[in-house]
Amino acid sequence: MSKNPVHVIGGGLAGSEAAWQIAEAGVPVVLHEMRPVRGTDAHKTEGLAELVCSNSFRSDDAETNAVGLLHAEMRLAGSLIMSAGDAHQVPAGGALAVDRDGFSDAVTAKIEAHPLITIVREEVPGLPPADWDQVIIATGPLTAPSLAQSIAEATGADALAFFDAIAPIVHFDTIDMNTAWFQSRYDKVGPGGTGKDYINCPMDKEQYLAFVQALLDGQKTEFKQWEGTPYFDGCLPIEVMAERGVETLRYGPMKPMGLTNVHNPSVKAYAVVQLRQDNALGTLYNMVGFQTKLKHAEQVRIFRTIPGLENAEFARLGGLHRNTYINSPTLLDPSLQLTSRPGLRFAGQITGCEGYVESAAIGLLAGRFAAAERLGQAPSLPPPTTAFGALLNHITGGHIVSDDEPGKRSFQPMNVNFGLFPPVEAPKVEGKRLRGKDKTVAKRRAITARALADCRAWLGPPVRAEAAE
Ligand SMILES: Cc1cc2nc3c(=O)[nH]c(=O)nc-3n(C[C@H](O)[C@H](O)[C@H](O)COP(=O)(O)OP(=O)(O)OC[C@H]3O[C@@H](n4cnc5c(N)ncnc54)[C@H](O)[C@@H]3O)c2cc1C
Repeated sequence: MSKNPVHVIGGGLAGSEAAWQIAEAGVPVVLHEMRPVRGTDAHKTEGLAELVCSNSFRSDDAETNAVGLLHAEMRLAGSLIMSAGDAHQVPAGGALAVDRDGFSDAVTAKIEAHPLITIVREEVPGLPPADWDQVIIATGPLTAPSLAQSIAEATGADALAFFDAIAPIVHFDTIDMNTAWFQSRYDKVGPGGTGKDYINCPMDKEQYLAFVQALLDGQKTEFKQWEGTPYFDGCLPIEVMAERGVETLRYGPMKPMGLTNVHNPSVKAYAVVQLRQDNALGTLYNMVGFQTKLKHAEQVRIFRTIPGLENAEFARLGGLHRNTYINSPTLLDPSLQLTSRPGLRFAGQITGCEGYVESAAIGLLAGRFAAAERLGQAPSLPPPTTAFGALLNHITGGHIVSDDEPGKRSFQPMNVNFGLFPPVEAPKVEGKRLRGKDKTVAKRRAITARALADCRAWLGPPVRAEAAE
């Protein structure tokens, strides 16, 4: 068996967790972290797993919240990030919030003390040398420019994005299909479509004018100075389009042409909001062309005025941020390995997940996969019914690529959410179907119970590696 180390580049949330998992499996690791030799625009310390902004890991409710479920699965898998988070938590109601310095110090101390981990404080300036045969790149949303440049060159011009231009994503089962209807513009079938691939929400003139005014009046978030002005690639925020003239949206993403309202065929809609299937399960739909800098509460308020979306629940709201992430569904295999360069994996936010916990979870998986390969085993993929599997599937395979906009990348970072899981039937109570909030809660409990059972089965009984004892 080879004793060559696995190299992990980046000692953030994902890289620290990956290094820990590899070492706990009995495989040596070299962890390359550029701080303090070189900093980023957001990190302030030289600690590993520094939290760059909020100190919250979000909800810790494993029964009815998807990120709470991910916490639980990570604890089952021996996560370093979760054990340090639990040890340094501060009061935050139902959320898991942590003392950021205590947390980062604890992760750093554990990694430094592990006999199988060597930390090298250096910037890795480009793709790893050929003799590093197992590598995980976990350099995050603020990947140093020369490595980012090398990744872009190796993966193709369109494969690396430097900003999110995020359009909101809606849970399908909260869209009112008595108002909205399925139809592709001009019933175009396209290479992989059916002619009914979009959900359409109609507006009359009065509704449209009120909607445009609401976009203009709505509160927006400001760019941080270092984020620059990211209006590029025709990805203008809708409120910026609205500022350019009252008709601009009607000639852009809200054009009504080629669509007939099946609920009211004789009346032509003045404008139409279109939603496109976002995941292979068909549980999530994104609002086409609706990237926005409106504040989150404003998005919910304004987008619920769209006919058909009055009760919409959002899996993710829109935004524009500085980020660095690869087009994972086209580049990575199911074990997070670059298909064009076996042995090179990606982990953390650079893969297109979003958030501290999600980044650490993908680091945990990448670490386990790399360790398995080093030990001569096939990587064991988590079941798609688990939070691990749902998130992994979003990154490597669940995303639908649009046929009618060839070449346009549409994969966007996302937090873990229930729309990523295979659906379940809501259980009946005393033979009766549940409705409304009770039904939603019952479905969530069914998804989380199934996930935890499947996660335990996937992990098997806890085993300690010889070398870690
Ligand atoms: C400004 C900002 C605020 C955010 N706020 C939140 C928030 O409040 N809550 C939340 O859940 N998520 C937030 N995120 C998103 C995300 O969860 C975090 O960025 C998270 O830290 C991502 O984890 P990661 O391990 O992928 O990257 P990071 O934690 O950033 O770790 C990457 C590491 O790689 C190092 N590195 C980079 N390039 C190189 C190189 N070439 N060689 C060696 N080392 C390198 C960096 O120094 C860093 O330590 C925020 C992101 C940003 C940019």
